[in-house]
Amino acid sequence: MKSKLKGIIWMDELTLFTMALGLSKPWHVVDIRFSKEEGRLDLEIDFSKGAKFPCPSCAEGESEVYDTKDRTWRHLNFFQYETYLHARVPRVRCGRCGIRQVEVPWARPGSGFTLLFEMLVLQLSREMSVAGVAEVTGEQANRIWRILGHYVEQARRRVDLSEFHILGMDEFSLRKGHVYMTSFSDLEASRVIYLGESRRKEVIEEFVEDLRGRGADPAQIDLVCCDMWDPYLHGLRNHVCQAQVVFDRFHIMHQLNKAIEKVRWLEQRENKALKKTRYLWLKNPRNLTREQEDQLEKLKRLDLKTARAYHIKLALARFWELKEPVRAALYLKRWYFWATHSRLKPIIEVAKAIKRYWNGVVSFTTSRITNGVVEGLNSKIKTAMKRAYGFKHVAYLRTIVYLVAGKLCFD
Ligand SMILES: [Zn+2]
Repeated sequence: MKSKLKGIIWMDELTLFTMALGLSKPWHVVDIRFSKEEGRLDLEIDFSKGAKFPCPSCAEGESEVYDTKDRTWRHLNFFQYETYLHARVPRVRCGRCGIRQVEVPWARPGSGFTLLFEMLVLQLSREMSVAGVAEVTGEQANRIWRILGHYVEQARRRVDLSEFHILGMDEFSLRKGHVYMTSFSDLEASRVIYLGESRRKEVIEEFVEDLRGRGADPAQIDLVCCDMWDPYLHGLRNHVCQAQVVFDRFHIMHQLNKAIEKVRWLEQRENKALKKTRYLWLKNPRNLTREQEDQLEKLKRLDLKTARAYHIKLALARFWELKEPVRAALYLKRWYFWATHSRLKPIIEVAKAIKRYWNGVVSFTTSRITNGVVEGLNSKIKTAMKRAYGFKHVAYLRTIVYLVAGKLCFD
Protein backbone atom coordinates (compact mmCIF):
# COMPACT_ATOMS: atom_id res chain seq x y z
CA MET A 1 0.00 0.00 0.00
CA LYS A 2 1.62 3.19 -1.20
CA SER A 3 1.34 6.20 1.01
CA LYS A 4 -1.11 8.74 -0.43
CA LEU A 5 -1.76 10.71 2.71
CA LYS A 6 -2.00 14.31 1.62
CA GLY A 7 -2.38 17.29 3.85
CA ILE A 8 -0.45 15.92 6.80
CA ILE A 9 3.23 15.95 7.45
CA TRP A 10 4.54 12.91 5.69
CA MET A 11 5.16 10.07 8.00
CA ASP A 12 6.20 6.55 7.37
CA GLU A 13 2.87 4.74 7.10
CA LEU A 14 4.06 1.85 9.24
CA THR A 15 4.71 4.40 11.99
CA LEU A 16 1.32 5.93 11.32
CA PHE A 17 -0.48 2.61 11.82
CA THR A 18 1.67 1.86 14.84
CA MET A 19 0.39 5.10 16.35
CA ALA A 20 -3.20 4.50 15.24
CA LEU A 21 -3.15 1.18 17.07
CA GLY A 22 -1.63 2.83 20.13
CA LEU A 23 1.33 0.46 20.11
CA SER A 24 4.43 1.20 22.07
CA LYS A 25 7.88 -0.36 22.24
CA PRO A 26 8.85 -3.02 21.51
CA TRP A 27 5.68 -3.52 19.38
CA HIS A 28 5.26 -1.87 15.98
CA VAL A 29 3.58 -2.46 12.64
CA VAL A 30 5.92 -4.11 10.14
CA ASP A 31 3.64 -4.82 7.21
CA ILE A 32 0.33 -3.69 5.79
CA ARG A 33 -1.67 -5.79 3.33
CA PHE A 34 -4.73 -4.23 1.86
CA SER A 35 -7.19 -6.07 -0.36
CA LYS A 36 -9.90 -3.99 -1.95
CA GLU A 37 -11.53 -7.08 -3.47
CA GLU A 38 -11.84 -8.86 -0.14
CA GLY A 39 -12.64 -5.63 1.71
CA ARG A 40 -9.97 -6.46 4.18
CA LEU A 41 -6.96 -4.90 5.84
CA ASP A 42 -4.25 -7.04 7.48
CA LEU A 43 -1.69 -5.47 9.76
CA GLU A 44 1.42 -7.38 10.71
CA ILE A 45 2.82 -6.49 14.11
CA ASP A 46 6.18 -7.54 15.48
CA PHE A 47 8.48 -6.85 18.38
CA SER A 48 11.96 -5.38 17.97
CA LYS A 49 14.85 -7.75 17.61
CA GLY A 50 16.41 -8.66 20.94
CA ALA A 51 13.38 -7.42 22.94
CA LYS A 52 12.94 -8.86 26.41
CA PHE A 53 9.65 -9.46 28.22
CA PRO A 54 8.66 -9.86 31.87
CA CYS A 55 7.10 -13.15 32.94
CA PRO A 56 3.29 -12.79 32.62
CA SER A 57 2.71 -14.88 35.76
CA CYS A 58 5.06 -13.37 38.33
CA ALA A 59 6.11 -10.18 36.47
CA GLU A 60 9.62 -11.10 37.52
CA GLY A 61 12.61 -9.71 35.59
CA GLU A 62 12.95 -9.52 31.86
CA SER A 63 13.54 -12.64 29.83
CA GLU A 64 14.69 -13.31 26.33
CA VAL A 65 12.24 -14.79 23.89
CA TYR A 66 12.15 -18.55 24.05
CA ASP A 67 9.97 -19.14 20.97
CA THR A 68 6.94 -17.60 19.25
CA LYS A 69 3.48 -18.59 18.09
CA ASP A 70 1.55 -16.93 15.23
CA ARG A 71 -1.75 -15.39 16.26
CA THR A 72 -4.53 -13.35 14.60
CA TRP A 73 -7.03 -10.92 16.14
CA ARG A 74 -10.06 -9.27 14.70
CA HIS A 75 -9.86 -5.51 15.18
CA LEU A 76 -12.26 -2.60 14.64
CA ASN A 77 -12.93 -1.96 10.99
CA PHE A 78 -10.92 0.75 9.30
CA PHE A 79 -13.82 2.37 7.43
CA GLN A 80 -15.61 -0.48 5.64
CA TYR A 81 -12.58 -2.78 5.73
CA GLU A 82 -12.52 -5.69 8.10
CA THR A 83 -9.24 -5.39 9.91
CA TYR A 84 -7.06 -8.11 11.36
CA LEU A 85 -3.88 -7.92 13.37
CA HIS A 86 -1.24 -10.61 13.10
CA ALA A 87 1.74 -11.16 15.32
CA ARG A 88 4.11 -13.83 16.50
CA VAL A 89 3.52 -13.93 20.20
CA PRO A 90 6.64 -14.71 22.20
CA ARG A 91 7.00 -17.16 25.04
CA VAL A 92 9.57 -16.58 27.74
CA ARG A 93 11.29 -18.99 30.09
CA CYS A 94 10.93 -17.77 33.66
CA GLY A 95 13.25 -19.17 36.30
CA ARG A 96 10.31 -19.52 38.70
CA CYS A 97 7.27 -20.28 36.52
CA GLY A 98 8.73 -22.08 33.52
CA ILE A 99 7.72 -21.31 29.96
CA ARG A 100 4.96 -18.69 29.70
CA GLN A 101 3.24 -16.91 26.86
CA VAL A 102 3.69 -13.13 26.94
CA GLU A 103 0.55 -10.97 27.09
CA VAL A 104 0.09 -8.56 24.21
CA PRO A 105 -1.19 -5.06 25.03
CA TRP A 106 -3.99 -5.01 22.43
CA ALA A 107 -5.87 -8.16 23.48
CA ARG A 108 -6.62 -10.20 26.55
CA PRO A 109 -5.11 -13.68 26.74
CA GLY A 110 -6.95 -16.30 24.74
CA SER A 111 -9.21 -13.89 22.88
CA GLY A 112 -9.31 -13.74 19.10
CA PHE A 113 -10.38 -10.08 19.25
CA THR A 114 -8.61 -6.89 20.16
CA LEU A 115 -9.75 -5.04 23.27
CA LEU A 116 -11.23 -2.24 21.18
CA PHE A 117 -13.29 -4.68 19.16
CA GLU A 118 -14.58 -6.26 22.35
CA MET A 119 -15.53 -2.84 23.73
CA LEU A 120 -17.54 -2.18 20.59
CA VAL A 121 -19.37 -5.50 21.03
CA LEU A 122 -20.15 -4.59 24.63
CA GLN A 123 -21.55 -1.19 23.66
CA LEU A 124 -23.67 -2.62 20.85
CA SER A 125 -25.04 -5.37 23.08
CA ARG A 126 -26.55 -2.88 25.49
CA GLU A 127 -28.74 -1.63 22.67
CA MET A 128 -29.38 -4.63 20.45
CA SER A 129 -29.76 -8.39 20.42
CA VAL A 130 -26.75 -10.65 20.21
CA ALA A 131 -28.03 -11.84 16.84
CA GLY A 132 -28.04 -8.19 15.75
CA VAL A 133 -24.49 -7.62 16.98
CA ALA A 134 -23.39 -10.77 15.17
CA GLU A 135 -24.93 -9.48 11.97
CA VAL A 136 -23.48 -5.98 12.23
CA THR A 137 -19.97 -7.25 12.95
CA GLY A 138 -20.12 -10.30 10.68
CA GLU A 139 -19.12 -12.54 13.60
CA GLN A 140 -20.68 -15.75 14.86
CA ALA A 141 -23.18 -15.28 17.68
CA ASN A 142 -21.41 -17.77 19.98
CA ARG A 143 -18.20 -15.73 19.73
CA ILE A 144 -20.16 -12.60 20.68
CA TRP A 145 -21.64 -14.53 23.63
CA ARG A 146 -18.16 -15.48 24.80
CA ILE A 147 -16.98 -11.87 24.77
CA LEU A 148 -20.06 -10.74 26.70
CA GLY A 149 -19.75 -13.60 29.17
CA HIS A 150 -16.21 -12.61 30.02
CA TYR A 151 -16.80 -8.90 30.55
CA VAL A 152 -20.12 -9.28 32.33
CA GLU A 153 -18.62 -11.71 34.84
CA GLN A 154 -15.65 -9.44 35.36
CA ALA A 155 -17.87 -6.38 35.92
CA ARG A 156 -20.11 -8.37 38.25
CA ARG A 157 -17.11 -9.22 40.42
CA ARG A 158 -16.41 -5.50 40.77
CA VAL A 159 -19.92 -4.63 42.00
CA ASP A 160 -19.72 -3.19 45.50
CA LEU A 161 -21.97 -5.29 47.73
CA SER A 162 -20.89 -3.77 51.03
CA GLU A 163 -24.19 -1.81 51.35
CA PHE A 164 -26.37 -4.74 50.38
CA HIS A 165 -28.96 -5.37 53.15
CA ILE A 166 -32.33 -6.02 51.54
CA LEU A 167 -32.76 -9.06 49.34
CA GLY A 168 -35.64 -9.49 46.93
CA MET A 169 -36.30 -12.97 45.60
CA ASP A 170 -38.66 -13.69 42.77
CA GLU A 171 -39.37 -16.66 40.59
CA PHE A 172 -40.03 -16.47 36.90
CA SER A 173 -40.80 -19.11 34.37
CA LEU A 174 -39.25 -19.91 31.04
CA ARG A 175 -40.50 -22.01 28.17
CA LYS A 176 -44.15 -21.67 29.11
CA GLY A 177 -43.65 -22.69 32.71
CA HIS A 178 -41.49 -25.74 32.06
CA VAL A 179 -38.41 -24.14 33.56
CA TYR A 180 -38.31 -21.93 36.63
CA MET A 181 -35.59 -19.55 37.71
CA THR A 182 -35.11 -17.33 40.73
CA SER A 183 -33.79 -13.82 40.57
CA PHE A 184 -31.96 -12.40 43.59
CA SER A 185 -31.91 -8.62 43.76
CA ASP A 186 -30.49 -5.88 45.89
CA LEU A 187 -33.76 -4.01 46.47
CA GLU A 188 -32.11 -0.75 47.52
CA ALA A 189 -29.75 -0.62 44.56
CA SER A 190 -32.48 -2.15 42.36
CA ARG A 191 -30.14 -4.47 40.57
CA VAL A 192 -30.23 -8.19 39.91
CA ILE A 193 -27.22 -9.72 41.64
CA TYR A 194 -27.77 -13.39 40.96
CA LEU A 195 -29.87 -15.63 38.79
CA GLY A 196 -30.57 -19.10 40.17
CA GLU A 197 -31.43 -22.01 37.91
CA SER A 198 -34.50 -23.29 39.75
CA ARG A 199 -36.94 -22.39 42.51
CA ARG A 200 -35.82 -25.21 44.76
CA LYS A 201 -34.30 -24.60 48.16
CA GLU A 202 -30.82 -25.28 46.75
CA VAL A 203 -30.82 -21.99 44.85
CA ILE A 204 -30.37 -20.17 48.15
CA GLU A 205 -27.18 -22.08 48.78
CA GLU A 206 -25.93 -21.34 45.26
CA PHE A 207 -26.70 -17.67 45.78
CA VAL A 208 -24.93 -17.56 49.13
CA GLU A 209 -21.85 -19.21 47.59
CA ASP A 210 -21.82 -16.68 44.79
CA LEU A 211 -22.15 -13.89 47.35
CA ARG A 212 -19.22 -15.19 49.39
CA GLY A 213 -17.14 -15.57 46.24
CA ARG A 214 -17.69 -11.85 45.67
CA GLY A 215 -16.49 -10.90 49.11
CA ALA A 216 -19.93 -10.32 50.65
CA ASP A 217 -21.31 -12.00 53.74
CA PRO A 218 -24.86 -13.43 53.79
CA ALA A 219 -25.03 -12.28 57.43
CA GLN A 220 -25.26 -8.68 56.23
CA ILE A 221 -28.76 -9.33 54.84
CA ASP A 222 -31.38 -7.88 57.23
CA LEU A 223 -34.55 -8.33 55.23
CA VAL A 224 -35.73 -10.73 52.56
CA CYS A 225 -38.82 -10.10 50.50
CA CYS A 226 -40.15 -13.19 48.75
CA ASP A 227 -43.18 -15.32 47.95
CA MET A 228 -44.87 -17.68 50.38
CA TRP A 229 -43.01 -20.64 48.97
CA ASP A 230 -41.68 -23.32 51.32
CA PRO A 231 -38.50 -24.23 49.42
CA TYR A 232 -37.36 -20.60 49.62
CA LEU A 233 -38.08 -20.51 53.34
CA HIS A 234 -36.19 -23.72 53.97
CA GLY A 235 -33.21 -22.41 52.05
CA LEU A 236 -33.32 -19.09 53.87
CA ARG A 237 -33.58 -20.74 57.26
CA ASN A 238 -30.43 -22.73 56.50
CA HIS A 239 -28.30 -20.05 54.91
CA VAL A 240 -29.65 -16.58 55.73
CA CYS A 241 -31.21 -17.38 59.09
CA GLN A 242 -30.73 -13.96 60.71
CA ALA A 243 -32.78 -12.10 58.10
CA GLN A 244 -36.39 -11.10 58.71
CA VAL A 245 -38.61 -12.50 55.97
CA VAL A 246 -41.35 -10.30 54.55
CA PHE A 247 -43.81 -11.81 52.16
CA ASP A 248 -44.51 -9.88 49.08
CA ARG A 249 -47.96 -8.33 49.41
CA PHE A 250 -48.52 -8.40 45.67
CA HIS A 251 -47.90 -12.10 45.64
CA ILE A 252 -50.37 -12.63 48.51
CA MET A 253 -53.06 -10.59 46.76
CA HIS A 254 -52.38 -12.56 43.63
CA GLN A 255 -53.04 -15.79 45.55
CA LEU A 256 -56.30 -14.35 46.80
CA ASN A 257 -57.31 -13.34 43.30
CA LYS A 258 -56.70 -16.87 42.13
CA ALA A 259 -58.95 -18.11 44.96
CA ILE A 260 -61.74 -15.72 43.95
CA GLU A 261 -61.51 -16.95 40.41
CA LYS A 262 -61.87 -20.56 41.59
CA VAL A 263 -64.99 -19.64 43.57
CA ARG A 264 -66.50 -17.80 40.61
CA TRP A 265 -65.66 -20.58 38.20
CA LEU A 266 -67.61 -23.12 40.26
CA GLU A 267 -70.48 -20.78 40.97
CA GLN A 268 -71.07 -19.67 37.40
CA ARG A 269 -72.29 -23.17 36.54
CA GLU A 270 -75.38 -22.48 38.63
CA ASN A 271 -75.56 -18.74 38.20
CA LYS A 272 -75.28 -17.51 34.64
CA ALA A 273 -75.02 -13.89 35.79
CA LEU A 274 -71.41 -14.62 36.69
CA LYS A 275 -70.37 -15.60 33.20
CA LYS A 276 -67.73 -13.35 31.68
CA THR A 277 -67.29 -11.37 34.89
CA ARG A 278 -63.84 -12.68 35.83
CA TYR A 279 -62.21 -9.34 35.22
CA LEU A 280 -64.60 -7.39 37.45
CA TRP A 281 -63.61 -9.27 40.58
CA LEU A 282 -59.89 -9.28 39.96
CA LYS A 283 -59.29 -5.73 38.91
CA ASN A 284 -58.46 -2.97 41.36
CA PRO A 285 -61.86 -1.26 41.92
CA ARG A 286 -60.25 2.08 41.07
CA ASN A 287 -59.44 0.85 37.58
CA LEU A 288 -62.99 -0.15 36.64
CA THR A 289 -64.95 1.81 34.06
CA ARG A 290 -68.29 3.34 35.01
CA GLU A 291 -70.13 0.53 33.24
CA GLN A 292 -68.08 -2.18 34.99
CA GLU A 293 -68.70 -0.47 38.34
CA ASP A 294 -72.47 -0.59 37.80
CA GLN A 295 -72.32 -4.23 36.79
CA LEU A 296 -70.25 -5.11 39.84
CA GLU A 297 -72.65 -3.23 42.15
CA LYS A 298 -75.59 -5.24 40.81
CA LEU A 299 -73.72 -8.52 41.26
CA LYS A 300 -72.65 -7.61 44.78
CA ARG A 301 -76.33 -7.21 45.78
CA LEU A 302 -77.06 -10.81 44.79
CA ASP A 303 -76.33 -13.39 47.44
CA LEU A 304 -73.22 -14.78 45.75
CA LYS A 305 -70.29 -16.74 47.08
CA THR A 306 -68.10 -14.82 44.66
CA ALA A 307 -69.22 -11.53 46.16
CA ARG A 308 -68.40 -12.81 49.62
CA ALA A 309 -64.93 -13.83 48.48
CA TYR A 310 -64.54 -10.43 46.92
CA HIS A 311 -65.33 -8.62 50.16
CA ILE A 312 -62.79 -10.75 51.96
CA LYS A 313 -60.20 -9.68 49.42
CA LEU A 314 -61.02 -5.99 49.84
CA ALA A 315 -60.66 -6.42 53.60
CA LEU A 316 -57.18 -7.90 53.22
CA ALA A 317 -56.24 -5.08 50.85
CA ARG A 318 -56.93 -2.66 53.73
CA PHE A 319 -54.50 -4.57 55.95
CA TRP A 320 -51.53 -3.31 53.90
CA GLU A 321 -52.40 0.29 54.77
CA LEU A 322 -51.98 -0.29 58.51
CA LYS A 323 -48.72 0.89 60.00
CA GLU A 324 -49.03 0.06 63.67
CA PRO A 325 -47.91 -3.56 64.30
CA VAL A 326 -50.23 -4.43 67.21
CA ARG A 327 -53.30 -3.00 65.50
CA ALA A 328 -52.30 -4.61 62.24
CA ALA A 329 -51.88 -8.04 63.85
CA LEU A 330 -55.31 -7.71 65.50
CA TYR A 331 -56.87 -6.70 62.22
CA LEU A 332 -55.28 -9.66 60.47
CA LYS A 333 -56.55 -12.01 63.19
CA ARG A 334 -60.11 -10.79 62.68
CA TRP A 335 -59.70 -11.10 58.95
CA TYR A 336 -58.41 -14.65 59.40
CA PHE A 337 -61.44 -15.58 61.51
CA TRP A 338 -63.79 -14.18 58.90
CA ALA A 339 -61.96 -15.82 55.98
CA THR A 340 -61.77 -19.25 57.63
CA HIS A 341 -65.50 -19.10 58.45
CA SER A 342 -66.49 -18.15 54.94
CA ARG A 343 -67.19 -21.76 53.86
CA LEU A 344 -65.30 -20.92 50.66
CA LYS A 345 -62.63 -23.57 50.30
CA PRO A 346 -60.16 -21.67 48.07
CA ILE A 347 -60.35 -18.63 50.38
CA ILE A 348 -59.84 -20.79 53.47
CA GLU A 349 -56.73 -22.26 51.86
CA VAL A 350 -55.17 -18.84 51.32
CA ALA A 351 -56.10 -17.79 54.86
CA LYS A 352 -54.42 -20.89 56.24
CA ALA A 353 -51.31 -20.17 54.20
CA ILE A 354 -51.26 -16.68 55.71
CA LYS A 355 -51.60 -18.23 59.16
CA ARG A 356 -48.64 -20.51 58.48
CA TYR A 357 -46.55 -17.60 57.27
CA TRP A 358 -47.98 -15.18 59.83
CA ASN A 359 -44.83 -13.37 60.94
CA GLY A 360 -43.69 -12.75 57.41
CA VAL A 361 -47.06 -11.24 56.57
CA VAL A 362 -47.32 -9.02 59.65
CA SER A 363 -43.71 -7.86 59.28
CA PHE A 364 -44.76 -5.85 56.26
CA THR A 365 -46.37 -3.38 58.67
CA THR A 366 -42.97 -2.20 59.85
CA SER A 367 -40.67 -3.02 56.93
CA ARG A 368 -42.99 -1.77 54.13
CA ILE A 369 -40.88 -3.60 51.59
CA THR A 370 -42.31 -5.23 48.51
CA ASN A 371 -40.85 -6.75 45.44
CA GLY A 372 -42.15 -3.80 43.46
CA VAL A 373 -38.60 -3.02 42.40
CA VAL A 374 -38.20 -6.61 41.32
CA GLU A 375 -41.31 -6.33 39.17
CA GLY A 376 -39.51 -3.55 37.31
CA LEU A 377 -36.45 -5.73 37.07
CA ASN A 378 -38.63 -8.58 35.86
CA SER A 379 -39.79 -6.57 32.90
CA LYS A 380 -36.13 -5.89 32.17
CA ILE A 381 -35.46 -9.62 32.43
CA LYS A 382 -38.25 -10.30 29.96
CA THR A 383 -36.72 -7.79 27.55
CA ALA A 384 -33.37 -9.46 28.09
CA MET A 385 -34.82 -12.85 27.27
CA LYS A 386 -36.16 -11.49 24.03
CA ARG A 387 -32.67 -10.20 23.27
CA ALA A 388 -31.21 -13.57 24.12
CA TYR A 389 -33.70 -15.06 21.66
CA GLY A 390 -32.58 -18.50 20.64
CA PHE A 391 -30.15 -18.78 23.53
CA LYS A 392 -28.97 -22.32 24.07
CA HIS A 393 -27.46 -22.11 27.50
CA VAL A 394 -28.59 -20.78 30.84
CA ALA A 395 -25.18 -19.11 30.97
CA TYR A 396 -26.26 -16.91 28.04
CA LEU A 397 -29.46 -15.95 29.80
CA ARG A 398 -27.51 -15.06 32.91
CA THR A 399 -25.09 -12.96 30.90
CA ILE A 400 -27.82 -10.94 29.24
CA VAL A 401 -29.84 -10.49 32.44
CA TYR A 402 -26.80 -9.21 34.32
CA LEU A 403 -25.98 -6.95 31.39
CA VAL A 404 -29.48 -5.46 31.27
CA ALA A 405 -30.54 -5.54 34.93
CA GLY A 406 -27.28 -5.77 36.85
CA LYS A 407 -26.26 -2.09 36.71
CA LEU A 408 -22.76 -3.10 35.73
CA CYS A 409 -19.91 -0.75 35.06
CA PHE A 410 -17.40 -1.64 32.36
CA ASP A 411 -14.70 0.97 32.86
ZN1 LIG B 1 7.44 -16.12 36.42
